[in-house]
Amino acid sequence: MLAGLEQMLKYGTEEQRQKWLPQMASGEQLGAVCITEPFAGSDAANVMTTAVKDGDEWVIDGKKRYITGGGVSDRYFIYAKTSEDPSDRKQYSHITSFLVEKGLPGFHLERVNPLVGFDNVPNTYLSFNNVRIPDENRIGAVGKGWNVMMSGLNFERLIAGAVYVGVIKDIIKLLFYYSKRRVQFRRSTNQFPGIQNEIAEIIAKYRMGRVFAYNCAKQLDDGQEPMINASIAKWFISEYVRDAGLRAVQVMGGDGLTKFYPAERIVREGKIGEIVAGTTEVQKMIIYRFASMLPESNEPMRFRWSEEVNAPLLSKKESQFKGLEINEENILKVIAHDYKVNPGLYMTPDDVRQDIGGSRSAIRKTFESLEEKKLIVTNRDRDGKIALVKATYDGTKKAFPDDYYRWFPDWYKDEDKF
Ligand SMILES: Cc1cc2nc3c(=O)[nH]c(=O)nc-3n(C[C@H](O)[C@H](O)[C@H](O)COP(=O)(O)OP(=O)(O)OC[C@H]3O[C@@H](n4cnc5c(N)ncnc54)[C@H](O)[C@@H]3O)c2cc1C
Repeated sequence: MLAGLEQMLKYGTEEQRQKWLPQMASGEQLGAVCITEPFAGSDAANVMTTAVKDGDEWVIDGKKRYITGGGVSDRYFIYAKTSEDPSDRKQYSHITSFLVEKGLPGFHLERVNPLVGFDNVPNTYLSFNNVRIPDENRIGAVGKGWNVMMSGLNFERLIAGAVYVGVIKDIIKLLFYYSKRRVQFRRSTNQFPGIQNEIAEIIAKYRMGRVFAYNCAKQLDDGQEPMINASIAKWFISEYVRDAGLRAVQVMGGDGLTKFYPAERIVREGKIGEIVAGTTEVQKMIIYRFASMLPESNEPMRFRWSEEVNAPLLSKKESQFKGLEINEENILKVIAHDYKVNPGLYMTPDDVRQDIGGSRSAIRKTFESLEEKKLIVTNRDRDGKIALVKATYDGTKKAFPDDYYRWFPDWYKDEDKF
């Protein structure tokens, strides 16, 4: 019912919203979101379904798979390739989104998957053979389908988390009901500490998941794109529900495994949650990628040698090398000094510049000559640009005497030093 809602709210024109939103809100017709294809799973950008413009129409060709609600839905929110240009592909501007309605010539249901769970909704393959749709069914600009997809997925991941919070709440009610009424060893099973522990674990996860899902929903309501939090909500809460389902089966013993009670179903549904709308591994990739771009992950932070305490400390102090002339000797000193502070680490060019000052290009040229002389080693990015530098053993020797790098704790005996 909600399929395509967020996409329509964010990217639909006024006319499109007037046409489609009342239908979505009434729930009279179901909708499906169609990203996945035989070629495009976790790599959702690799769609092979094409949309080619022909006058005022688009001609759609290709296949989609794993589509929830296929067949029974009237509205299909699809993503298709509209550019073969490699530079568009590189910038994720090769995809456009469209709404395809059931009943169009060439649009068929190809197959229905029997699944481990989601018992109440068909999981399907769809086939598009020269399906013609009007340009007014294009949602968002041509080439902007990736952005439309991402905002739809943020919403879907939050919804998945929120639905599962409700499922966990149901498990808790079921387990209180059940364990108060099941008697073994002349006591109701809820009196056993082991059973109480299991239920307490589920309650804690339910409450954590609930707070997190509401927090993420607030971000969406405030008009933000909560990439990181939607991924966390989906990842954690689907894990919680699978875990809660397994615990529920354990608390209920044999009864938990029968289909007369819902515990076994919850395990199956929870496992699906770890795959649908992007696997847990993909959520972790998103969290890392987007968090790595946040200012809070990149706050300038340096360990500096403190003579006072004779140890490296996190510090905002300026480096002792600041303002020195940019030449091989001084740059090598900066880099070799870092061996004393962070023996196992490289420095970024920005670290070096922060320490000594001067122009980026002068520093880069000096890196190159120091590298040629084998006084430093560099680590380069894909374009061959120097990304990290570190002094070689010869470099550390040339920059400072051996004693400069020696360090022992107070309790270490002098006679054992050599
Ligand atoms: C019940 C169900 C309902 C679904 N409903 C819909 C729907 O309505 N619409 C829709 O478009 N799609 C739907 N899907 C598809 C779903 O989004 C995909 O199944 C999911 O994104 C994973 O893709 P895949 O199955 O092709 O697995 P693959 O991408 O082949 O992944 C296989 C394994 O490799 C791992 N992997 C892949 N790439 C990486 C990487 N870069 N780093 C680390 N690990 C990686 C994955 O995490 C996974 O463990 C549904 C799927 C299911 C099971």
